[in-house]
Amino acid sequence: MSRKSGLVPRAQYDPEEKTLLPEPEHGVKERPLPDLSGMTLAALSDWVTSIGLPPFRAGQLFRWIHGRLVKGFDEMTDISKSLRGRLSEEARITRLQSLETHRSEDGTLRAVLALPDGLPVETVLIPEPRRLTACLSTQVGCRMGCAFCQTGRLGLLRDLSTSEIVAQLDWLRGLPDCAGNRVSNVVLMGMGEPLDNRGQVFPALEIITGDLGASIASRRVTVSTIGLTDGIAEMEGLPGQYGLALSLHGALPETRARLVPGAPEQDLDVLAASLASYARVKRRRVTIEYCLIEGVNDDREHADALAAFTGRIPCKINVIPLNPVGTGGLRPPAKEGIERFLEWLYPVCQAVILRKPRGRDIQGACGQLGTSLLLASRGYAPERASGSQAQHGADPQAR
Ligand code: SAH
Ligand code: SF4
Repeated sequence: MSRKSGLVPRAQYDPEEKTLLPEPEHGVKERPLPDLSGMTLAALSDWVTSIGLPPFRAGQLFRWIHGRLVKGFDEMTDISKSLRGRLSEEARITRLQSLETHRSEDGTLRAVLALPDGLPVETVLIPEPRRLTACLSTQVGCRMGCAFCQTGRLGLLRDLSTSEIVAQLDWLRGLPDCAGNRVSNVVLMGMGEPLDNRGQVFPALEIITGDLGASIASRRVTVSTIGLTDGIAEMEGLPGQYGLALSLHGALPETRARLVPGAPEQDLDVLAASLASYARVKRRRVTIEYCLIEGVNDDREHADALAAFTGRIPCKINVIPLNPVGTGGLRPPAKEGIERFLEWLYPVCQAVILRKPRGRDIQGACGQLGTSLLLASRGYAPERASGSQAQHGADPQAR
């Protein structure tokens, strides 16, 4: 489907059959009401004023929606019954339902949530001793087509709206896991390329960091991208000090082009300059993600190129052994191969981290659970993570 068409697939997901039901003949009717859960505080102020309410109502609504996580207007008990009635006729709030949840032995929780039109999207909660991280999706599918990524195999089904991005976090925050245990960090490392949907993603960042809602410090929110340089430049202009993670995977031009063919900027010098500028403006290091693949990007020449690329940027490097699910025969190197690669980097790079596997027993890199359901529904052979190689795509160190 052309993403310019503006058409949204109307598929319905059947959790019993784990498949998408055929498109209803006349499409699903959407209520064309303004969605308050996708509005920044400023947009909400404009909206309340536009319907003749005093501006203080904006903060009140924002707090109920993203602070107290109500499901509907009738729970907003300090608002009169008549106004609640009026609000429910004139506006809506997006809340998501869970289709599947999987708990890993390390405590990682993966959830497949149903979007209002029935499409599934994946959201993950990662507990660690001193942080609780939510990993959110930004699109259903992705059009960037990275060689080893299941989500890329799907292509782009559609962008998520601001409210659907924030609603994933609000769903996680409503879990018992989060009771008295605030989500401390957010990473946009689920399904999709965040900077390919920045019109919806940037307001979501503002909502997530808003004082009256989840109130997560911008330094604890990380956007992962394959490097859309115009998007990085736009992020530079945002007020928050958001973290930036670049999925590099190859520092030699031909390797990068093979692994990340959809990146609009293939010139590695331009990419490095864009990252260095972001690090300088935001006064923080960026994270370089390097997915290690046997025989593709794991020899000395690749390590030297990675060291040279990152030498120009204030950064840390995360090396991630490939999770071999749906990767068309690509595999991670054996343990010795991974160690050898790290040994080449350690003496010459600023900071190198081998990423800890999270949720290893419950399905691969971020987005792979939701993606495998969608792929299966489209006639691809379902591939599930098998044992110890499976790895979570979120970056515990980028937070
Ligand atoms: N589109 C963005 C964010 C989502 S992908 C991006 O690519 O950065 C989140 C991370 O999962 C990326 O770093 C991606 O490279 C990684 N990933 C995807 N498939 C993987 C696999 N099979 N094994 C290991 N990491 C994978
Ligand atoms: Fe898209 Fe990221 Fe997957 Fe590449 S790795 S296809 S950019 S989700």
